[in-house]
Amino acid sequence: MTQAVAESVTCVCGYSGPAIAPAGRAVCPICHTPAAAAPAPRILRIPCPRGHVLKAGEHLLGQQVVCPDCNEMFLLREDDSLERRQELKRLRQAEEERIAKLWLARAIWAAAFIVASLVGMIAFSFAYRAPPPRPPVEPPSDPAPAARTE
Ligand SMILES: [Zn+2]
Ligand SMILES: [Zn+2]
Repeated sequence: MTQAVAESVTCVCGYSGPAIAPAGRAVCPICHTPAAAAPAPRILRIPCPRGHVLKAGEHLLGQQVVCPDCNEMFLLREDDSLERRQELKRLRQAEEERIAKLWLARAIWAAAFIVASLVGMIAFSFAYRAPPPRPPVEPPSDPAPAARTE
C-alpha cells in the first residue's frame, strides 16, 4: 500500500476522487468546496483458523485468503471478524441490560405493590379498629324472678 494516498472525496458537484489539500484541508479539485471525506473503508480484524488476526478491508470479505503467519487458507467472513463479535457481544449486553431493567422495573412494581398493600392494611386496621373499650357497664340487675311454675 502506498503511503500518501490522497484523501478521497465525494463532492456535491458530482466529483468523486482524490481531493487536493492546499491549506491542509481536503477540498474538491473542481469546485474547491471543502468536501466531506468519503467514509474510510471498514477494516475488519478476522482471525485465521489458527487464531492469527488478519486485518482485511471490507472488499475482501467472502474471499479465500492465505494467512501470512501459518499459510492456512481460509474464507474471510464478516461473522468471524472481531468487530462482528464485539458487535454481537454489545447487542447481547444491551439485551441483557434491557432484560435486567425489565426485571428491575418488575421488582420495583412488586415492591410498590407490597408497600401499597401494607399501607392499605395498616390504614384498614386503623379505620376498622375495635372501638375504644367503653366504661364497664353495670350488668343490668337481675330481672324480677319470673313466676315459677312448678
Ligand atoms: Zn466539487
Ligand atoms: Zn494463521
